[in-house]
Amino acid sequence: MDYEMALSDAEQGWFPISLRLKNERVLLVGGGEVAVNKGRLLLDHGAKIEVVAEHLNAIIQGWVDLGVVDYIGQSVKEDILKEIIPGCRLVYAATDDRAVNRVVARLADELRVPVCAVDDPAPSSFITPAQVRRGSVRIAISTAGGAPVLARRLREEIEGWLPEGTGSLASYMRSRRMKVSTRYPDVQNRKRIWEDFLDGRGAEYARSGDAEKADQILDNLLDGYAKNGEVWIVGAGPGDPDLLTLKALHCMQNADVVLYDNLLPKVLLERVRRDAELIFVGKQKDRHAMPQDLINEEIIKHARAGQRVLRLKGGDPFIFGRGGEEVESLMQAGVAFKVVPGITAASGCAAYAGIPLTHRDCAQACLFVTGHARADGQLDLPWSDMADRRQTVVIYMGISTLPLLMEGLKEHGLPSDWPVAVVERGTQTTQRVVVGTLGDIAQKVRELDVKSPALIIVGKVVGHRVVSL
Ligand code: SAH
Repeated sequence: MDYEMALSDAEQGWFPISLRLKNERVLLVGGGEVAVNKGRLLLDHGAKIEVVAEHLNAIIQGWVDLGVVDYIGQSVKEDILKEIIPGCRLVYAATDDRAVNRVVARLADELRVPVCAVDDPAPSSFITPAQVRRGSVRIAISTAGGAPVLARRLREEIEGWLPEGTGSLASYMRSRRMKVSTRYPDVQNRKRIWEDFLDGRGAEYARSGDAEKADQILDNLLDGYAKNGEVWIVGAGPGDPDLLTLKALHCMQNADVVLYDNLLPKVLLERVRRDAELIFVGKQKDRHAMPQDLINEEIIKHARAGQRVLRLKGGDPFIFGRGGEEVESLMQAGVAFKVVPGITAASGCAAYAGIPLTHRDCAQACLFVTGHARADGQLDLPWSDMADRRQTVVIYMGISTLPLLMEGLKEHGLPSDWPVAVVERGTQTTQRVVVGTLGDIAQKVRELDVKSPALIIVGKVVGHRVVSL
């Protein structure tokens, strides 16, 4: 990266709030297009606008003529502004002269009235986010004033994705809030009922305005609700957050407790709901990982306490992920669970490294094996199957045993110049790909100091590697 990461908007101190502007006085300095945009927004929120500007364009003049905006003064003079500003809730400095805007911003700031110099965050004490609105629902998007075009692009994307009926859904939930909280005063339980409601058909009915059917579903939830936790065993993919499935993201947004280990890239944890409890069950420095049966116990303990427990795993939970063992223990304990698949390292690494795992010309099959050694340091692998030349062999957890693995394959008949690729931290921003052969890959990997997690891909498909322009 040849640019510095900016501080997050929180670190820069931008605090988002919704300010009630109905019938409040707002000073708008400027009479051109920029002022029109802000003026529209303010009128939309019932503010009483006072305009100071040398010239008014036709639209603002129209507002003045209609009496919805007061035209206070023509000259943007300090003494006049000093008189007006203290009576206002907010000030917008929206002339097309940056220097003038800055003078206004300084005056307002001295008088402690929040001020926004449009498109100029430095002298501003507030900024106006881009917004998506659906009835009482509003999503505000801020880039701390640093990338307004990106904010608008994100707004378009969210516009496309946010269902039309979100406004009616919010109104419905608001109108039934008392009913639910009277029946279930406990916050956790209430939250669960609403989440179940949102997950089911009730939300669809409320979105389309069918309150009667929505009520039936809500009533069923209120009657049949039992305080039982559940467990979601979820694959989070190999690291790129964009490879999370929608279902995984949904679980991450709704879990009460999240158990994760070393394989899970930190950027993924940022997507977890903020107030969820995070429990690390991986290897601590100088210590062993939490044994699997203790992890299982921990999961069951939280589920029995009525929580929604998310066991978040790298890749896919059922591919070298011990998901099977966790599920068995949940079955025995009688705890409800579901499993959400994820993109396994083999698919993720292969795609991002440009290596097809099968190819009509050279690989009719693909074998996933583990390179993890037994306690005695030996590998217990189906060697003769692995040495079949018409396939690709993908080895998980094989970096520390790489020399043994390569030797084994040669001993079972593969030639020393047989192609091998190693993908380190596949799909992540720091991904590295090392290409070599059975004969030289171990040395290359040692020289480049490749570390876990890394995936080994063995077979002629490595020769079909393509790297996009
Ligand atoms: N359940 C996981 C695999 C867990 S075993 C899955 O489906 O992907 C852990 C091994 O997976 C690591 O030793 C490494 O070989 C592989 N692995 C997982 N994530 C990886 C990544 N981002 N890049 C390369 N290898 C990865």
